Amino acid sequence: MLVTDLESIKRIAAEKESENEAFRNFLHQQQPLQTDVQVHSLNQQIAPQVDCTTCGNCCKSLISVTAEEIDSLSEVFQTSPAKLKEKYIEESQTGQMVINSIPCHFLTGTTCSIYSHRFTSCRDFPHLHKPNFTQRYFGTMMYYPLCPIIFNVVEKLKEQLGFNSYDRQ
Ligand code: SF4
Ligand code: SF4
Repeated sequence: MLVTDLESIKRIAAEKESENEAFRNFLHQQQPLQTDVQVHSLNQQIAPQVDCTTCGNCCKSLISVTAEEIDSLSEVFQTSPAKLKEKYIEESQTGQMVINSIPCHFLTGTTCSIYSHRFTSCRDFPHLHKPNFTQRYFGTMMYYPLCPIIFNVVEKLKEQLGFNSYDRQ
C-alpha cells in the first residue's frame, strides 16, 4: 500500500529524519549496482501508481532548460526564442539557463500547462531511473518529504534490503 497523501508524507518524513540518515550509512554498506537495480525496479512499479497531476511539487524548484528546448517552445508559443527567454528564462554567466520563477511559470495549480512540451529536467524527475542512487542519495532525499514517488521507493527499498531496527543501531 503506497502513501500518497502529501501532508502525511511530510509528517512521516519529519519523524524519519534520523532513520533516513542511518539508512544513508546502511546503503553505503550495500552493493551500489545491486541497489540501482532495485531502485530502478521499484521506480517502475511505483511511479505509474502516483498521480503527479495532484502534486506538482517538483515544479516548485529550479528547472534547467536547454537552448533547443527554448527554440521548440518558442515555436509552440509562436514567438521568438529571444522573447521567450526574456519573459521566462534566467541565464547564468556560464550560460546555464533556468526558469526564472519558483514555482515554474507553467504550473497551473498542480498541473503543467505545457505538459507535452515540458523540459527534459521535468521529464527526468525524480531521476530514479538513473545510475548511482547511493551517490545521489543526499540530493534525492531533499525531495523525500515532497515527492510521493521518492518517498515510497525509499520506504520499499528499506524493506527489500532488510533495513530494520537492528541495522539502525
Ligand atoms: S514546465 Fe511543467 S513540468 Fe516542468 S517545472 Fe514547469 S510546470 Fe512543472
Ligand atoms: S514531486 Fe514527484 S510525485 Fe510530485 S509531481 Fe513531481 S515527480 Fe510527481
